[in-house]
Amino acid sequence: MSFKEHIRVIHDYPQPGIRFKDITTLLQNGPVYKEAIDELKQLVSKWEIDVIAGPEARGFVIGAPLAYALGVGFIPIRKSGKLPGETIEADYALEYGKDKLAMHKDAIKPGQKVLIADDLLATGGTIQTSINLIHQLGGDIVGAAFLIELSYLDGRSKLDELDVVSLMQF
Ligand code: 5GP
Repeated sequence: MSFKEHIRVIHDYPQPGIRFKDITTLLQNGPVYKEAIDELKQLVSKWEIDVIAGPEARGFVIGAPLAYALGVGFIPIRKSGKLPGETIEADYALEYGKDKLAMHKDAIKPGQKVLIADDLLATGGTIQTSINLIHQLGGDIVGAAFLIELSYLDGRSKLDELDVVSLMQF
């Protein structure tokens, strides 16, 4: 299936010069959304996975159905102040902005095999911060899965040894 035709590119959002890849046009199409999750499931089947962790909010719409499909748990990585229990936090810089991400202290048991999932890999900042948090909790990261990879930003090179799979590359 050609997934790219279901991605809408919006120019100058959220800032001038950014070509935002809008995934809502893919998500609203049931058969295409399902096919995308099914293909991601195939791509990650080479890894042994205990849990999937995904950053809010678009990481949830990819990570949670993928976790359901694999029959593993899902762990939300949230913006600071959103999780009710005890958390750890780390700073991160986006392609267009800055924030803090947080995880529950007891979200991952040391040694658990964690797959990171998000909608899109841009500069890699979000995933670097997610890696930092998961490592602090003693998780063992097996890889990262994305719907879209912006190859021209080369986020992969920031993720060193991390194994990365993506359905679409721009
Ligand atoms: P990075 O941290 O790799 O620079 O940026 C990736 C994060 O920003 C992802 O969590 C993603 O949701 C968001 N993001 C950045 N650019 C885009 C884009 O063009 N489209 C979408 N859907 N998300 C983006």
